[in-house]
Amino acid sequence: MESAPDNRLKVLHVHAHFDDFEFCAAGTFERWRLDRGPLFQGRVLVCTDGRAGHHRHSRLETGTIRLAEQAASAALGNYEFSLLRQRCGEPFAEGCRVVTPELLEALWREIRSFEPDYLICPPLPSDPAAGVHPDHWTVAEAIRRVAYMINVPHAFPDPSGAPDDPNPRWLKTPVILNTYDAYQAGANAFDIAVDVDPCFDLIAAESWCHQSQIREWLPWVGRHSIPVAANLDEWKQTLRTRFQRQARELLLPTDRAWEVFGITAWGTVPTAFQLASDFPGLAEDSGRLDRLEARLLRWS
Ligand SMILES: [Zn+2]
Repeated sequence: MESAPDNRLKVLHVHAHFDDFEFCAAGTFERWRLDRGPLFQGRVLVCTDGRAGHHRHSRLETGTIRLAEQAASAALGNYEFSLLRQRCGEPFAEGCRVVTPELLEALWREIRSFEPDYLICPPLPSDPAAGVHPDHWTVAEAIRRVAYMINVPHAFPDPSGAPDDPNPRWLKTPVILNTYDAYQAGANAFDIAVDVDPCFDLIAAESWCHQSQIREWLPWVGRHSIPVAANLDEWKQTLRTRFQRQARELLLPTDRAWEVFGITAWGTVPTAFQLASDFPGLAEDSGRLDRLEARLLRWS
């Protein structure tokens, strides 16, 4: 696709929680980093404070732990990480939240300040029978609602009360892709699949940083078939099983680890050729890319 003026490929991953990135796109980020080196800039934006998801710690303790776990993962993966904040400086609360004007404004500012080529976010549920995580659904809906406004410079007033800029700069709207969502297991679809098997050990190490999730909360809440791993090697076995389960669901080869993405028309509509050229390690299925190209042509 058209590169940024400085030739970097900039990708923004926007999701609800600390740890979502590791289960959706960490391998794809690493493949980009290995392929492009300093010409890849990846940023992870987490939209909630992470305070709700633990059974023993207080809300404040949980939020503090989760923030440190994500920072440790970011150091391993060499990606930028930031926490979405309201105007008052506080992050948005985790759990059962809905789209608000404050959330749309905060996302609008973050996207405009980073100017990504690609924005990756959770999908909207397409099957009314599918389960959902309310925060994932909220982030997906917010991104869809804010997408058109990315290049609308006066969509939200300046927080300082300054007058509207009479000569605003034109801003590129990114291509927006949806991730796989384990909460909608059985109802997931995708357009492109990235072979992240070469990055499996890093994905395991990054997700292992989220100890309070994978060894405490997720086994306790019992919705994810995650046993308590005693060490990193055991966690790798659990993670491998998870990748195999997803591959079976998506009819992909189960001997590799895949991260999958659906293309939306929420933002700029790409061509299949652009996607094939920008994404590393795509699954070889020219029929799928041909079908995707036909849909993208209709959209554009
Ligand atoms: Zn999540």
